[in-house]
Amino acid sequence: MLTAAEAERLIFTLVEPVRAVESVPLADCLGRVLAVPVRSELDFPHWDNSAMDGYAVRAVDVQQVPVTLQVVAEIPAGTRPEVVIGPGQAARILTGAMMPEGADAVVMQEETAREAAEVTILAVPESGSFVRSRGSFYRAGAELLEAGRAIAPAEIALLAAAQQTQVAVYRRPRVAIISTGSELVEPGQPLGPGQIVDSNQYALAALVAQAGAVPVALGIVPDERAAVKGAIAAALSQADMVLSSGGVSVGDYDYVDAVLAELGATLHIRSVAVKPGKPLTVASFDYAQLSVVGRQVYFGLPGNPASAMVGFWRFVAPAIQRLSGLAGAPSVAFVWAKALTELKAGGKRETYLWGQLRATESGYEFARAVGSHSSGNLVNLANTSGLAVVPMGETHIAAGESVRVLVCKANI
Ligand code: AMP
Ligand code: MG
Repeated sequence: MLTAAEAERLIFTLVEPVRAVESVPLADCLGRVLAVPVRSELDFPHWDNSAMDGYAVRAVDVQQVPVTLQVVAEIPAGTRPEVVIGPGQAARILTGAMMPEGADAVVMQEETAREAAEVTILAVPESGSFVRSRGSFYRAGAELLEAGRAIAPAEIALLAAAQQTQVAVYRRPRVAIISTGSELVEPGQPLGPGQIVDSNQYALAALVAQAGAVPVALGIVPDERAAVKGAIAAALSQADMVLSSGGVSVGDYDYVDAVLAELGATLHIRSVAVKPGKPLTVASFDYAQLSVVGRQVYFGLPGNPASAMVGFWRFVAPAIQRLSGLAGAPSVAFVWAKALTELKAGGKRETYLWGQLRATESGYEFARAVGSHSSGNLVNLANTSGLAVVPMGETHIAAGESVRVLVCKANI
């Protein structure tokens, strides 16, 4: 049985990023991953311009203040100045407007007194003050954004400024989802004896979408060997990664591992020392076709709803990050938080307790969800924004102590 950290490292080495590239309009690229480095043919700023409303002056003219200068032009933003500022002269200038030739400093309006065609400068500016010089933020041709970067709103602003109306991004990975279990029915169906609703299908599809991949929901498969085999084969034919829930423990009808082996998979992980979620199967299908080597990773998550979700947050979410082409070592985000209540664990496995992570003025706080933390209970799992981690070998963390908390992203 691997530790969580060992499993995480192994999974990282198994997942191969999707390399297919597509071009999407700028307005649609939020959350996508850049496939090529972005450069601009423009300097930023593209013109020497004023950072303030005020007066463009020659610094040499205003070394002794007060000094009165003649206002020879008014330069609003978006126009080309038609004057050259000579000795004893100034131009009224507005924020973002091009600097006129001859001037090398801007005096902010608050440090001037205007009277008809004259302005009196009341404070000595430093040379270059309040001037945003051409190329001072960025020189044309250098790399603006590296490939493998997630596109967030600030990146969109930069891409827009760099005139990138179409953006080369990696294709979103497709992640298939199968629910195994003869007891499962679709939401909306009446429950026969012993039946339960297939909630995992919907939970996993939502988690996959939140992780930036495309969920391919393939429905319920009964615990019959042939049906499981057919479903896994079908999933492999239409997705980059496959997730199933259920059927990976030691029960008589738990066929997933056997079927994976039969289909030619290599089984890398069968259980991990975590609670909930110990039975976790990670397998890979490796193939070489026309000199293209490919690999699909398969996650067999436990069927218990809390186990399936915790397994996703801990192991599948970082795997999807890597699959998506994000650069760097993907890892789940952990923060240190103050435990608001005592946190207990069995001690034999790394234990995850769900609850709410809150940012306060003095750092994070973690409030454990009240009620049962049984792996079958999804009732108090709702509203989870963090999983507190009680390390292997420890049985309790007292209220007020620091605890490491896995941030269930997008929820916080
Ligand atoms: P298994 O891992 O197949 O042994 O299932 C463990 C527990 O999780 C059983 O109580 C199942 O009924 C339940 N379970 C399995 N699959 C699902 C699912 N898709 N949605 C909700 N509960 C499930
Ligand atoms: Mg089952």
